[in-house]
Amino acid sequence: MDPRIQPIFDEVLRRNAGEVEFHQAVLEVFESLGRVIAKHPQYAEVSILERICEPERQIIFRVPWVDDAGRVQINRGFRVEFNSALGPYKGGLRFHPSVYLGTIKFLGFEQLFKNALTGMPIGGGKGGSDFDPKGKSTGEVMRFCQSFMTELYRHIGEYTDVPAGDIGVGGREIGYLFGQYKRITNRYESAVLTGKGVGWGGSLVRTEATGYGTAFFADEMLKTRSESFEGKRVLVSGSGNVAIYAIEKVHQLGGVVVACSDSSGVVYDDSGVDLELLRQIKEVERGRLADYAERRGSSSDYRAGGNIWSISAATRIDVALPCATQNELDETDARVLADNGVLAVAEGANMPSTPEAVRVFSEASVLFGPGKAVNAGGVATSALEMQQNASRDSWSFDNTEQRLVEIMRGIHERCATTAEEYGEPGNYVLGANIAGFTRVADAMLAFGVV
Ligand code: GLU
Repeated sequence: MDPRIQPIFDEVLRRNAGEVEFHQAVLEVFESLGRVIAKHPQYAEVSILERICEPERQIIFRVPWVDDAGRVQINRGFRVEFNSALGPYKGGLRFHPSVYLGTIKFLGFEQLFKNALTGMPIGGGKGGSDFDPKGKSTGEVMRFCQSFMTELYRHIGEYTDVPAGDIGVGGREIGYLFGQYKRITNRYESAVLTGKGVGWGGSLVRTEATGYGTAFFADEMLKTRSESFEGKRVLVSGSGNVAIYAIEKVHQLGGVVVACSDSSGVVYDDSGVDLELLRQIKEVERGRLADYAERRGSSSDYRAGGNIWSISAATRIDVALPCATQNELDETDARVLADNGVLAVAEGANMPSTPEAVRVFSEASVLFGPGKAVNAGGVATSALEMQQNASRDSWSFDNTEQRLVEIMRGIHERCATTAEEYGEPGNYVLGANIAGFTRVADAMLAFGVV
């Protein structure tokens, strides 16, 4: 790390003790910024780096709710409003038992650069709760969402902060959250949340956008080596919203996704994952991946507790799309993939590769797309949803998907040209970090010390 940046990082460690994922996200960005600070000393003069690491506002609140047995349950709610230099805070809500302040801060920090990279007028924020939706009844999920919004509503608004979904928060939860917001405020303020149902202010393609965008970005990466998805064998970790639509688009682009996973195990399906069956199990029944292999029969194989990346040691894998969660792909996994000839890795999830894994890919000249660029299609389509809400309009699927394609090409282009400008062609990590950072930093410079 640049010696001018090291003391700023040390201070981040001291001020945010124990928040290891946040440290990791900051480190990754800071490692890219040495040359930027050298070229633009004005950023250092007004402490842009120090300011960018300190969220503008952090809200932590109690979420009491009553379970089906009549017992009172308590969860913790978070909204970290990281940076509003480019627009209202924008980012999803994550409901998962592992969530603590450090998770939300890492996600909010990533989000602010991701949103800047899209070129759209959105700041960065993130929220969530340690609530575990797994095994909860629909009534319990609804009561939790209503209680969560009973506090959150006073902090959000279409010009202030616009939450959406993330892990554990999909269309159902956004519906309950929007219903409660509307009831409390007596306002039909469509653009206060994105990821809404298409019948009540949602945008076509928003559901598919993160996964589709991931495949589009990976396709752009492949093109730089005169390759495409045609005939490629692909691993997609996860089996949630991002994974499902990444698989769908890879199949449409001519690739074959031979495996996916959930937190309990891995499904290997040599003839290609059966998307209809996967969607039935995960989206309709909210079931487990183990059921997939049981219903699919002999062509597929389920390994409880298996590691999806190790599949590349046994069969040819060309592309890997980690679409599950943070730090799911470590140095050993990266070595297995690289040693067995993987061509490209594109992160559909937020920070799924550890820093050591990223180093392995870079040393092996594997095309590597970081999450803040690759998965930005989700939030970009949220911004399109806000545009439609503002104009009280709704666009066709094809028109919206075309906008998404152009946005992903734009992000790829921005990363590639910035990496080249800073002397490291093909380094998407550097390109994404610098392009995202400079857009935010320039706006902060313009605003003075606020
Ligand atoms: N949670 C998604 C992300 O990580 C989407 C956020 C949004 O649409 O606001 O980017």
